[in-house]
Amino acid sequence: MSKYQFKTHSDIETRNVAERLALLLKPGDVVTLEGDLGAGKTTFTKGLANGLGIKRTVNSPTFTMIKEYHGEMPLYHMDVYRLEDSEEDIGFEEYFNGNGICVVEWAHFIERYLPSEYLAVNLSYINETTRLLDFRPMGEHYESVAHKVAGYL
Ligand code: ADP
Ligand code: MG
Repeated sequence: MSKYQFKTHSDIETRNVAERLALLLKPGDVVTLEGDLGAGKTTFTKGLANGLGIKRTVNSPTFTMIKEYHGEMPLYHMDVYRLEDSEEDIGFEEYFNGNGICVVEWAHFIERYLPSEYLAVNLSYINETTRLLDFRPMGEHYESVAHKVAGYL
């Protein structure tokens, strides 16, 4: 499995990487975000939204679990932290099989509902302003997307 890593030095840089990614995504694509609290998952999602032309402010959907935004295509922003150790299924597959982009914070809590192909992004805290973004593409489409984000066209 190939790895694509990006080191960012501010929240804006993280948003910029996500914005570049957004421009390469197509309807039905799924991006999972893993990383500790404060790693930058929601910040990354803000960049995706920007790239999709969404003007509304994106906030963490921790309590609602899913928020929908409408830009070039729908963006479904999920934060499933609350589902830790729960068997709850709130109809994820419909979102994953739909025509929007799904971005899932803490996706490992709903691993069994994830499609077979998606882009896994792991964010880790290096210091107050530095984060390491690690893209792990699952499947050819995401492999090509990650490749382009990294700039090898
Ligand atoms: P999470 O959703 O993973 O809990 P957030 O995106 O809500 O994390 O919070 C990340 C925090 O870290 C924000 O306050 C952001 O401004 C700050 N930050 C500092 N440097 C970075 C960076 N390089 N990338 C992303 N966020 C950063
Ligand atoms: Mg968050």
